[in-house]
Amino acid sequence: MAGSATSYAEFYRRSIEQPQEFWAEQARLIDWQTPPRQVCDDSRPPFTRWFVGGTTNLCHNAVDRHLKDRASQTALICVSTETDTEKTYTFAELHAEVQRTAAMLQALGVRRGDRVLIYMPMIPEAAFAMLACARIGAIHSVVFGGFASVSLASRIEDAQPKVIVSADGGSRAGKVIPYKPLLDEAVRLSSHKPQAVLLADRGLAPMDRVPGRDHDWAPMREKHLHAQVPCAWLDSTEISYTIYTSGTTGRPKGVQRDTGGYAVALAASMKHIFEGSAGETYFSTSDIGWVVGHSYIVYGPLIAGMATIMYEGLPIRPDAGIWWSLVEKYKVTVMFSAPTAVRVLKKQDPAFLKKYDLSSLRGLFLAGEPLDEPTARWIADGLGVPIVDNYWQTESGWPMITLANGVEPQRAKFGSPGVPMYGYKIKILHESTGEELTKPNEKGVVVIEGPTPPGFMQTVWRDDERFVNTYWKSIPGKQVYSTFDWGIRDEDGYYYILGRTDDVINVAGHRLGTREIEESISSHPGVAEVAVVGVADPMKGQVAMAFAVPKDSAVVGDANAAMKLEGDVMKLVDQQLGAVARPARVRFVTLLPKTRSGKLLRRAIQAVCEGRDAGDLTTIEDPAALEQIKALVKQ
Ligand code: ATP
Ligand code: MG
Repeated sequence: MAGSATSYAEFYRRSIEQPQEFWAEQARLIDWQTPPRQVCDDSRPPFTRWFVGGTTNLCHNAVDRHLKDRASQTALICVSTETDTEKTYTFAELHAEVQRTAAMLQALGVRRGDRVLIYMPMIPEAAFAMLACARIGAIHSVVFGGFASVSLASRIEDAQPKVIVSADGGSRAGKVIPYKPLLDEAVRLSSHKPQAVLLADRGLAPMDRVPGRDHDWAPMREKHLHAQVPCAWLDSTEISYTIYTSGTTGRPKGVQRDTGGYAVALAASMKHIFEGSAGETYFSTSDIGWVVGHSYIVYGPLIAGMATIMYEGLPIRPDAGIWWSLVEKYKVTVMFSAPTAVRVLKKQDPAFLKKYDLSSLRGLFLAGEPLDEPTARWIADGLGVPIVDNYWQTESGWPMITLANGVEPQRAKFGSPGVPMYGYKIKILHESTGEELTKPNEKGVVVIEGPTPPGFMQTVWRDDERFVNTYWKSIPGKQVYSTFDWGIRDEDGYYYILGRTDDVINVAGHRLGTREIEESISSHPGVAEVAVVGVADPMKGQVAMAFAVPKDSAVVGDANAAMKLEGDVMKLVDQQLGAVARPARVRFVTLLPKTRSGKLLRRAIQAVCEGRDAGDLTTIEDPAALEQIKALVKQ
């Protein structure tokens, strides 16, 4: 039970009505070198500064602080089913590795405030590099290792790193992906050149070194084996890192985060939302290249004194039981994944969910995309643990809407992530009048009224104007932060996210959310996954087009079976939503175009259907998915 709060409603109210007291209390969850002078400075909206005057350090809170009580407890568990390796580090070992890495970065010229770009697979060195940056006050910018040269080049250009930390390669489904040639090409494409490149050699792919610029991790580490690098005490408002959004809707934005507010936000979320305690194990299946990886692979669990698992590999290799075997082996108590991953598992034998002892697991948190009811039920029944949907963004750094069961157990409702988290003043506004919609189930844009809580983005990196113009000026007459997501709130105050504001279909004047139609289609037992987009139509304005992955892949190549399933799916939509929502066509494909973070690229599908250029595709997972759709559309 948090503080003197008696219920979540009370806890929430205090966070909004007495934010200074509320957050001062949360700030005690972390160590400060100098305590803050002022809790919140909101004198220059929409910019918010948290814990002004305080000095602290993320690495100190994640590592050093635990040495006193748990030096020999496990801090980091790195599992790769790609290279068949498993390595664990205690807090003491992690402390030593991070200091070595910090010393290497310093030797390469990195100073406080310099940027270090980290382009790495899921190996321990990636976590060492992030924590080492935090330790010396360098700003890290982790770029997802699955990106190729062009995406990487634009991020090098934007972040202007003094040093880049990378590796010879990654591996996916047993196939080695050499990183070094991609990195060299990206540096060639970028007008900014790093001073040095630090390379972890896994022995996966050959590497050409650029003399004078490139340095090998292992020999350099040897030189700094006994390094002692103290934590730099940073101002609470000093930048800890920048990270790019997933790029689902367009050009990725460089989200900039502070130090003290972020540390407090994570510590508070570990307590009130995830309920993870020191000595336990946290397993997030995300990647360090995404915000979930920053908050809930690296910093959040470690700040809470938990062991954290970094996993390199697929959820279905060597078989679909791999994650659950790790839960059993490491007694995972809290797990975090994404609906897209659960949908992958859903195509496999559900017996895998029952094969291992999951008694340690208290909950599975899912975020990143709407969690449809069939998927949620399937995994909840299979695992027998609570499934907690949580809604947030790269921009927020931690959940915005979910259930804070660490404060008071709340009832989950399928289809809804829950209620606004403490500190978030969430409202639903009419998209064009800006009027607040207060009646239950009125659909509008989900917005946040400032000041935004600790952990929230400070600004767009080096572009305050883009921050203000993109996020705070989209609703007429109101200075509120737009999430660019549609939502409704029911009579109990639960929110439902209906999709992105650019994902609405207007069929003959009826405005339909793509999510509603997708949910209906995916409730058909023959459908594993589906994307619905609105396509321009001379008669109706727009019509809905559906592209679905059938459970039985034979349907894709079998015209008769496809026609039958298409008819059945249409009938189902008619029954559930009415004929107006019925897609003009339901086409079957073996895979859907997604971003590297597993989100549907509806924007690109729509462009292809309308015969337009698909736009910025640097974040696409597999271009072949779009080719399948192109081929179908041409028929
Ligand atoms: P970009 O902003 O660059 O287009 P993106 O919005 O996909 O990319 P992220 O910050 O990774 O980048 O994703 C946040 C978005 O993901 C949210 O705005 C929302 O659309 C969606 N989302 C996240 N969690 C949920 C959830 N639990 N339910 C529904 N939607 C979710
Ligand atoms: Mg976004």
